[in-house]
Amino acid sequence: MAYTPKEILAVWHKCNGRCVYGERILVKPEEYSITWEIDYAIPLSKEGKDDLPNQLVACIKHNRQKGARQRDSSDVGYGAT
Ligand SMILES: [Zn+2]
Repeated sequence: MAYTPKEILAVWHKCNGRCVYGERILVKPEEYSITWEIDYAIPLSKEGKDDLPNQLVACIKHNRQKGARQRDSSDVGYGAT
């Protein structure tokens, strides 16, 4: 999905330039697609809209982890007593 710099900046401002996950790290608007991406409060696959109220700042690390967690959930087998 391609966004204009104005749209990217609007999402960045809305989240105060911070990833909405975990430690809420600060990202730079000019590093969009390098250190952070636009994520959605309601996934587009679940009929979330691709507009500002639904858009969030997510650093690449958390966006990847989120996907990884869903993929790897069957691997969480250790910790059994
Ligand atoms: Zn993050």
